[in-house]
Amino acid sequence: MVYYYPDYFYDFKCVGGKSCPDSCCHIWQITVDKNTYKKYKSVTGELGRRMADKIDKVTGKITPHGEEHRCEFLNEDNLCDIILELGEDYLCETCRTHPRHEEVYKNVRELSISITCPIACKALLMREEPARICRKVSSETDRFDIYFDEPLFNQLLYVRNNMLKLTKRRDMGIGGRMLFMLGMAHDVQMRMIERQKRKQKGFIHNIIPSYPEFTEQEKSEIKSIVDAYYNPSAYDKEYGYVIKSVVSRKLFINSDTVTIKKAMSDMIFALCTMEQLKPTWFSYLQSVLNVRTQMTDSEYLSNLKKFNKEITDIQLEQLLFYFVYLYCLSSVYDGQLFAKIKMAVVNTLIIRELWFMKWLEEGRHITIDEQVEIAHLFVREVENSDENMEQWDSLMQRNPRFSLELLVDILT
Ligand code: SF4
Repeated sequence: MVYYYPDYFYDFKCVGGKSCPDSCCHIWQITVDKNTYKKYKSVTGELGRRMADKIDKVTGKITPHGEEHRCEFLNEDNLCDIILELGEDYLCETCRTHPRHEEVYKNVRELSISITCPIACKALLMREEPARICRKVSSETDRFDIYFDEPLFNQLLYVRNNMLKLTKRRDMGIGGRMLFMLGMAHDVQMRMIERQKRKQKGFIHNIIPSYPEFTEQEKSEIKSIVDAYYNPSAYDKEYGYVIKSVVSRKLFINSDTVTIKKAMSDMIFALCTMEQLKPTWFSYLQSVLNVRTQMTDSEYLSNLKKFNKEITDIQLEQLLFYFVYLYCLSSVYDGQLFAKIKMAVVNTLIIRELWFMKWLEEGRHITIDEQVEIAHLFVREVENSDENMEQWDSLMQRNPRFSLELLVDILT
């Protein structure tokens, strides 16, 4: 088994209690796994009674309470009654591991630390040096999985590793890095679609799917695309469709009718159509949208220029790296690489935009704690709900608010 993890993975320590600015034990639904639930059945006394009362016997879901949807076992000091009375060994799988996350890809495990935790988020945003992905191999045996598209996974791994290198190219502005990353994902996606067409159809392949190998020609083309975007000076006329189109201005939309301000407002508005987790999330987004309508396009642009000079590309680079690492390989399951990379870019742009609005509100100033608060709340709303993740992904695939043309306009 091969494990990948960011170099900061083992540094994380939960501070818990009142030292944590925003406990993770509220707002989202916690589900107790079967093995832990069996242990809970033998707990007696007041705690045992609360467990029997508040944990659903069939689904294992813990009934949250109050406006903040707090976990039943989170006490007034923001400490967990289960840990206090029974010890950490009695925590369910979710609570024991959170905010650590493991993504399973047949014989590969990808470990990450979710920045839905404000402490993890702050550590990421304060980090100066470029992040690195580490690799370790264990003797555990591979999982046999006939439904896993191994040829695609191998190509995605190659592309993803190069995209992560691209996020760290500090000789380029962050906008350029995002643009090249979108280009790389877009052009590789075209090769993935070509190969998809060779999938065998028929009754038997509906039960056991066929995953054709990439041809030597396709592999070589994917390598040329990656090279073209990683090192644009090496780009030749055959590859780099997106960057060529940008240079020839073929991809631009009419900037007179769709401004960057409107494009970003539309993206923020799309968040209001999803499930709200924190009860104040929509009203916060609405207040952001209201502030934007009170600004003319030229006021917006001149303020944005000033703001961009004050925040460093390094924070945006860390966020971009985080999202690309998390999302890219998951496209092995749906073949939607381009949508996943759009999602990484859009998330980074939205966080920057929300910081920008806070900076304006606070008289052209924003603290690191305010940045953390905004970034971790946004990520919580999107990532802590399966329904929201699915909707966000599908908006990237189909909604014109997230078209390549609009993103190119914003980034150039
Ligand atoms: S949000 Fe982070 S620091 Fe706070 S309790 Fe949860 S894991 Fe610990």
